[in-house]
Amino acid sequence: MAPSGPGSVRRRCRRVLYWIPVVFISLLLGWSYYAYAIQLCIVSMENIGEQVVCLIAYHLLFAMFVWSYWKTIFTLPMNPSKEFHLSYAEKELLEREPRGEAHQEVLRRAAKDLPIYTRTMSGAIRYCDRCQLIKPDRCHHCSVCDKCILKMDHHCPWVNNCVGFSNYKFFLLFLAYSLLYCLFIAATDLQYFIKFWTNGLPDTQAKFHIMFLFFAAAMFSVSLSSLFGYHCWLVSKNKSTLEAFRSPVFRHGTDKNGFSLGFGKNMRQVFGDEKRYWLLPIFSSLGDGCSFPTCLVNQDPEQPSTPAGLNSSSKNPENHQFPAKPLRESQSHLLTDSQSWTENSTSLGKGKAGMSNPALTMENET
Ligand SMILES: [Zn+2]
Ligand SMILES: [Zn+2]
Repeated sequence: MAPSGPGSVRRRCRRVLYWIPVVFISLLLGWSYYAYAIQLCIVSMENIGEQVVCLIAYHLLFAMFVWSYWKTIFTLPMNPSKEFHLSYAEKELLEREPRGEAHQEVLRRAAKDLPIYTRTMSGAIRYCDRCQLIKPDRCHHCSVCDKCILKMDHHCPWVNNCVGFSNYKFFLLFLAYSLLYCLFIAATDLQYFIKFWTNGLPDTQAKFHIMFLFFAAAMFSVSLSSLFGYHCWLVSKNKSTLEAFRSPVFRHGTDKNGFSLGFGKNMRQVFGDEKRYWLLPIFSSLGDGCSFPTCLVNQDPEQPSTPAGLNSSSKNPENHQFPAKPLRESQSHLLTDSQSWTENSTSLGKGKAGMSNPALTMENET
């Protein structure tokens, strides 16, 4: 896999092209700054009070928008930790074994002590041939980044990065602040936009900036509000975009709400325990990205007999169709002691950026 020859040149060219959407957004942002702060506020506004209030509020939103956008782009996606990688002996064994039951047996043995509760559609251990590792729950291989990404949500061309465990909070804040930015511009630009059509503006170049600014802000407000609304729904249900398209398969079967712990806990899993960090693009998500608490651990012959644990039915009434069973010790610990999540939540992996249709970037599991 050494990067040499025409293949690697093509890959490098592609990587440069992937930055085009980010450059486009940055140029648009730069122009919107010039159009709003200079042409609208300084050149066109006559009321000094309105000018000051608009400029202060605008700069605040602008700073939050740029900060969260920056963090979404440049936060490296997290990859599975070492314990999920196969040992050299296990890899050798896998190469010798033909596909099928013997192959699965090797993986089952390797996954014995890992906190894994999801399976492929056919009930097999989720294994990535490309990265040669056992995939943690909610982890998927991104074909653009060519890496397994923890709690992968989707590969986003607008930030030229994978949105996953490490930057999902930043992505949500980016959507929220960009929406507020557009709504604020549209609301304060509206009266000047009306003046444009009633010939109430002086005949300078500022009037065209004012007109285009309103169109752009209104258009982006519509598309951003639907995307932001969708992601708010995903957070409330504790689903990733990929899981909304294809429900996770647990050992006892498919369950679209398998990771949901209720609205409050679902929010805390993404935003963290400390409310003062919720609105800032500072990492505060709970957990390590490799294991996730689920209220739905069914009786499983592979599980050792469970110690006194939590009763799942009291935690999640939505999933009444599954009989309530005690959780495995490590999981009940995750569910009850959220303090421990934060202790090992800082390790960052490496990743590469790329771009493609988000729906097509997850590799198929068989
Ligand atoms: Zn992979
Ligand atoms: Zn990716």
